Amino acid sequence: MKIMKFGGTSVGKPERMHQVKDLIIHGKEKKIVVLSALSGTTNALVGISDALAAANKELAKERIDTLHQHYQVFYKDLLQSEAGRSKAEKIIKEHFEFLNIILKISFNEAISRDILAQGELLSTKLFYTLLQELDIPAVFLPALDFMSIDENAEPELKKISEKLKIILANYQEENIFVTQGYICKNHRNEVDNLKRGGSDYSASLIGAAISADVVEIWTDIDGMHNNDPRIVDKTRPIAQLSFDEAAELAYFGAKILHPASIWPAQQYNIPVKLLNTMEPNALGTTITSKELGTGVKALAAKDGITAIKIKSSRMLLAYGFLRKVFEVFEKYKTSIDMITTSEVAVSVTIDDLSHLNEIVRELETYGLVEVDKNQTIISVVGNLIAESKGTLANIMDSLTDIPIRMVSYGGSRHNVSLLVDAKYKNTALQNLNIGLFQW
Ligand code: ADP
Ligand code: ASP
Ligand code: MG
Repeated sequence: MKIMKFGGTSVGKPERMHQVKDLIIHGKEKKIVVLSALSGTTNALVGISDALAAANKELAKERIDTLHQHYQVFYKDLLQSEAGRSKAEKIIKEHFEFLNIILKISFNEAISRDILAQGELLSTKLFYTLLQELDIPAVFLPALDFMSIDENAEPELKKISEKLKIILANYQEENIFVTQGYICKNHRNEVDNLKRGGSDYSASLIGAAISADVVEIWTDIDGMHNNDPRIVDKTRPIAQLSFDEAAELAYFGAKILHPASIWPAQQYNIPVKLLNTMEPNALGTTITSKELGTGVKALAAKDGITAIKIKSSRMLLAYGFLRKVFEVFEKYKTSIDMITTSEVAVSVTIDDLSHLNEIVRELETYGLVEVDKNQTIISVVGNLIAESKGTLANIMDSLTDIPIRMVSYGGSRHNVSLLVDAKYKNTALQNLNIGLFQW
């Protein structure tokens, strides 16, 4: 069994959906096809939800109508038969009626998550209608029947696996299964999601749940590049990465993969392939447990970082000081990305600001607290980086004109992280590209 996940751009146009269809009918093996919403849809749904949260029903209605219009055009290009078109019309009507009903009721967080789920529901139903129109046998698998998260928003892999195996056991002969990425049920049995970009995570979780042979992530680029192609001109795809390297790149900002999408596949040792829907024969990137080569392989940047410095009120950091500091973050379920310490102070970075005020208030009982917002973590990722001679010097030489707020070196064999003000991010990535890859 293999998992084939297609992102927003891969299903964002009728002709692309046809390409996806060509890719999934190739070969006899069983596959679970995981689809994102059409590109732009989740952003539009966020816009609708934001307008409702701000009690601006007029704006929400306007946004619903614009999105509705998009789907009215889309399905007519996607489908040719009377039967297919009338099915699609019904699907679109049902989902937009739902959005219009929401306009009339009082808004809350659970409703917002219901709104966000409409994108994947629409894309999978329209794609399934296309398969039906073309007489391609397939099974529609609603993700909400098996994908779940617990009270800490962590996926319940064991439960997911049990449920999915029971469902799949009903279909011994069928080869193609279509399901939604991103959406799930939470511990209150409400509709929820795996956060933005979460369809990659869904694919990896489904792969782990059924011990798939491979998880293929089909997107709009030919694999993981050695730097962010949106910012740096000369980047190239990396043929092979280890799970650890890919996880670090995903976590530290390589948008091609959801930050948490590697661990399920890694835990069950399932290869992950990053492939290009628009160029299916390109090599792409294969991610496995193999650690190949040494030295720097890629750079990534994570935005929206806040640095917090706590200067101990005593001259030296007394024992127990760090524990107390970390307990504050634990209490507010806020994870720390980078840490640096000196004899008198400790600096940490966080990206979840939901409890910043409470955290700062509590930390102030232990010392002087300083907060720097709008920071970016630049991560240099590869194999045995700390051991490879000259790497740190090369990194520092590339950044001579950029003030570096924090450096984390030696914490992992795969990563050197630097914290800079967000305004230096692009220059830092470009200079490091020249310094580390000689371009
Ligand atoms: P999808 O909609 O298929 O999930 P995404 O937009 O989430 O696709 O991810 C693919 C995009 O990630 C690429 O178009 C590219 O601009 C961006 N990206 C950022 N960093 C990298 C990187 N290191 N390698 C490849 N793509 C990257
Ligand atoms: N549609 C969701 C998003 O745009 C999930 C995904 O595409 O992976 O974030
Ligand atoms: Mg994505």
